[in-house]
Amino acid sequence: MGTDCLFCRIVAGEIPATIVRETATTLAFRDIDPKAPTHVLVITKEHYADVATLAQGDPGLAGELLGTAAVVAEEEGLTVDGFRLMFNTGPYGGQEVFHVHAHLLGGAPLGPMLCR
Ligand code: AMP
Ligand code: ZN
Repeated sequence: MGTDCLFCRIVAGEIPATIVRETATTLAFRDIDPKAPTHVLVITKEHYADVATLAQGDPGLAGELLGTAAVVAEEEGLTVDGFRLMFNTGPYGGQEVFHVHAHLLGGAPLGPMLCR
């Protein structure tokens, strides 16, 4: 995908990010505009547009993304009180960056799942 994709550019080191964990296949970094006291994005290094494309294209890699999210949740101290892991997908899901990313949110009560 390369230069057109913001998160591919973070993977390539072309755009700075506050990285909290890196594995051979995944990267976790702090959201630039946090919506909770802890807000980390967990991505695959390989470009997939969204979680559905990833899960269908490489279920094992999808599992690795979830594994990284779980380790970061532990490291960030979120596992006792809980956290939310969220994949915005497509226009109705409010997805703005079309490189798969899980939002790991926690550190305070997160309120209702959806605003109505
Ligand atoms: P989404 O709406 O699910 O596609 O989420 C995209 C997220 O990426 C938003 O929460 C943004 O704040 C975040 N974001 C955008 N640019 C950057 C960046 N350069 N570094 C870290 N997070 C970013
Ligand atoms: Zn990308």
